[in-house]
Amino acid sequence: MPSYEYECQLCKARIELVQSLDKHDVPEVCPSCNMEHTMTRVNIPSSNAAKEQDGQKE
Ligand SMILES: [Zn+2]
Repeated sequence: MPSYEYECQLCKARIELVQSLDKHDVPEVCPSCNMEHTMTRVNIPSSNAAKEQDGQKE
């Protein structure tokens, strides 16, 4: 399954969630500052999900 990245517009915290292609809901509550409806999806380059490429963080 692909992962989607979301950013809180309030505290700029970013979280990454593994969600299905059909259903990727924006989190309602920021896990960092606990404010509701502050999360927006961040476009991840080359996240077209067909490939599984994990572990490329530095
Ligand atoms: Zn937040």
